[in-house]
Amino acid sequence: MRRRTYLKATGTALLGLAAAGTAAADSDERRGVYRPGGPWPGSEQAYNLDAFHTNEELAAELRRIDRRSDRISLQEIGESAGLGEPIWEVTVGDGDTSVHLINQIHGDEPIGTEVTLELIRDLALGNSGRVETLLDGLSFTIVPRVNPDGAMFEYDVDDDGSAEWIGRRTNTQAWRPGDSKYEPYYHYAVPDDAPPGYDMNRDFNVALDADAIGSQDGTWTDGRYYDVEYEGYTLRSSGLMLAPEVRAVAASALRAAPDYAITHHHQGRYLYPDSGDGNRPPKQTIMSVMPAYGPVYRERSPFDDPEAPVEDVVDPFIDAETSERSLQLNVLVERALGERGESVFDSVTRYGYYPLWGSYLDTVCPRTGAAGLLYEVTGQTDDRGQQGFGQMVQATKEGFAATFEAMADGSIADVNAEEYWDIPLTGDPLSNPHGVDVPTR
Ligand SMILES: [Zn+2]
Repeated sequence: MRRRTYLKATGTALLGLAAAGTAAADSDERRGVYRPGGPWPGSEQAYNLDAFHTNEELAAELRRIDRRSDRISLQEIGESAGLGEPIWEVTVGDGDTSVHLINQIHGDEPIGTEVTLELIRDLALGNSGRVETLLDGLSFTIVPRVNPDGAMFEYDVDDDGSAEWIGRRTNTQAWRPGDSKYEPYYHYAVPDDAPPGYDMNRDFNVALDADAIGSQDGTWTDGRYYDVEYEGYTLRSSGLMLAPEVRAVAASALRAAPDYAITHHHQGRYLYPDSGDGNRPPKQTIMSVMPAYGPVYRERSPFDDPEAPVEDVVDPFIDAETSERSLQLNVLVERALGERGESVFDSVTRYGYYPLWGSYLDTVCPRTGAAGLLYEVTGQTDDRGQQGFGQMVQATKEGFAATFEAMADGSIADVNAEEYWDIPLTGDPLSNPHGVDVPTR
């Protein structure tokens, strides 16, 4: 019984809209019903979290690598709000191109952390020509796990009196009157009888500086949403940088002054459009990718509305050249996985972009001039439909490899950005075939 309630609450949270409760409950009724012949697991099948590093194991492994290598620098750049766990930052490489990479800002989205740990190990200890190229061409600033509290979140899912380790999206920080004029929309409890916390990918602010927010010309709408006037535009639903984790990441991004900003996530389960026929079931998309781009591509944006203010459709602060580099990044990922031929990997889709003014990508990219890439692999640890941990790891690894190698050897400049528009948009959600068209990022 609790499990069911829990899934319902998660669904609502993933939709990112408190007001979507009805739609989420509605889709919950249909969970498990819509399974068009796919080889997909049912709703009871969850990740075995033993495959993932606990905070303690992550710290031990980072320290071990740091001891054995003189190439990396390991720093504690902050502490999580709930458990007081370290937020780690690794810097490595001496190239001219700066890459900022963050993982697991949503605690139930751990695969980027696992793959990044392997990347760090390679860069710190590897001796291949490939590693040498990466170290010579790139300077990495990496936050392996932004949300240690969400990552380790435990809840008594089956109501047996003891909590299970499931992970969750938000951190575990309380909101107190005085923290802000109103409680922000992105502070909520999942499950609804657990302590609330922040969705930290809504807590960023384009100032990237918590102290500067007080001097902003901001207004609250509906007592939940903080809108900021910034350089002649109204940035709706901006974040307040109330989470210490977010402040640490923002400071890290400013120090890195990245040419590329990359963030790894998980999403729900979606079909690959126009796949399958009478004989074969449709494919599930293994991963969606999303750039951040500016007005140069406005008319091609899937959410363009000529009547809407530009900042609702695209990022007005991202110039044409940076927008193009962002598309090139996304093309590299799709191409790398597509080159494996007809397989589960040949199913990368495009996550339709529009700005989310409290997110990492839509604040770091405009502030630092970075080209952006967001990965969304399939399935969160606390939602249903977890399958193929190895496949998600592999897809992420190949995406990372293709992009980093092309940045390091300069071949990214030869990628035809136009190919981005040929990547199909993500198809229907499997858990909600009747479609609630809202983001999970
Ligand atoms: Zn996420």
